[in-house]
Amino acid sequence: MSIMVPSTTPALITPGRQALDSALHQLDQAAEQLGLDDGLRTMLATPRRSLTVSVPVRREDGRLDVVQGYRVQHNVSRGPAKGGLRFHPSTDIHEVTALAMWMTWKCALVGIPYGGAKGGVAVDPAGLTTRELERLTRRYVNEILPLIGPEKDIPAPDVGTDEQTMAWVMDTYSVNAGYSVPGVVTGKPMTLGGSLGRAGATSRGVQIAALAALGGSPEGVTVAVQGFGKVGALAAQYLSDAGCKVVAVSDVTGAVYASSGLDIARLRAWAAEEGGVHGYRHADALARDDLFELDVDVLVPAALEGAITEANAPRVRARLIVEGANGPTTPQADEILAASGTTVVPDILANAGGVIVSYLEWVQNMQAYSWSSGEVELKLRDLMQGAYSEVKSLAAERGLTLRQAAHVIGVGRVADAHRMRGLYP
Ligand code: NAD
Repeated sequence: MSIMVPSTTPALITPGRQALDSALHQLDQAAEQLGLDDGLRTMLATPRRSLTVSVPVRREDGRLDVVQGYRVQHNVSRGPAKGGLRFHPSTDIHEVTALAMWMTWKCALVGIPYGGAKGGVAVDPAGLTTRELERLTRRYVNEILPLIGPEKDIPAPDVGTDEQTMAWVMDTYSVNAGYSVPGVVTGKPMTLGGSLGRAGATSRGVQIAALAALGGSPEGVTVAVQGFGKVGALAAQYLSDAGCKVVAVSDVTGAVYASSGLDIARLRAWAAEEGGVHGYRHADALARDDLFELDVDVLVPAALEGAITEANAPRVRARLIVEGANGPTTPQADEILAASGTTVVPDILANAGGVIVSYLEWVQNMQAYSWSSGEVELKLRDLMQGAYSEVKSLAAERGLTLRQAAHVIGVGRVADAHRMRGLYP
């Protein structure tokens, strides 16, 4: 059976709808491998709870804007729902549902006791002042308040949100509760119970996954990174620190290239100052999307979904793709890449470092205790390397791609949890 989920806007194929179609396709393949029955397949294809909210925002000039916000809990059979909060103009309910579903499989794959969730607000944060952004965040949190909580659903940063956003989430929830509740959100500033190692955790995980997949020495291995935000910039930094030669990076403002390798620390300082990589003087400018076609060893997509499609996949020359972003490769592109012998370390494995250290942050908050950065790094490394080995072995044993194997493991664990819990009533 192929999985169909009712759409609220069936005629409109948004990027979000495409992401959800990709997620459902991947679930379908895993369900087939696992021999899941139709009822369970449908249950796993549909979110447990979806909330759409209208968020009124008072602008500095007195105007009132209303934006759409979402929180989707895809599955909570293995523990509280967990997933990021995205502020992006093209965010819609389909995208948030796809991202929530990927979170479910990711948490199961790396063996942390969470279900999957995601939140989003359809807004461009760059177009708001800090005070407008704070008002928007607080009102959105207030609207989704019945869903979230340290034992129910724990948001974290994603595209367009950061530590400051998480501090506002924590404060809004805490004011409503009447006492401080640090465990309601992860990716917080250190002063509010954040964890050492959280800010760079997703990127550190990307580095661990890339080095594991490369096998040999990283010295001189050439890398291109799409997206120079929280994940991409530090992934470039850590890969460069490990000895790789990062020759190209892009962000929404443009792309830069240097055949001898970019000085990533210097480029990060430039991007922080100038608002993007565009105009960086110590490298050549590159058309943004030409980055995918460069003759490099490793490609790290770390921006948004649907970056590698059937249109550009035939021209990808990298032998290894390590997905920092969620859903950057479409199923059609996956087939093209598999046929050309390109290895893809899938999102639910490669970018799991973020949710792993979010989990560690939450555990520290629940115990009112904190670990050293060394302890956090060790636990992160253990979970990442363990999951990578499991995925690699299953892929070799069954002749699957790494993505297919990762989904078989993740989906399989969630299906097992459902079977053991049984159905209420
Ligand atoms: P971010 O907002 O910090 O950065 C996003 C970056 O992508 C920015 O540099 C932006 O300019 C760039 N970008 C957007 N469109 C682009 C385009 N067309 N071409 C090139 N660059 C483009 O977001 P982030 O937190 O770094 O998240 C990036 C990806 O990683 C997302 O898919 C997110 O879901 C995923 N992810 C994030 C985390 C986390 O901890 N932040 C964890 C796991 C996965």
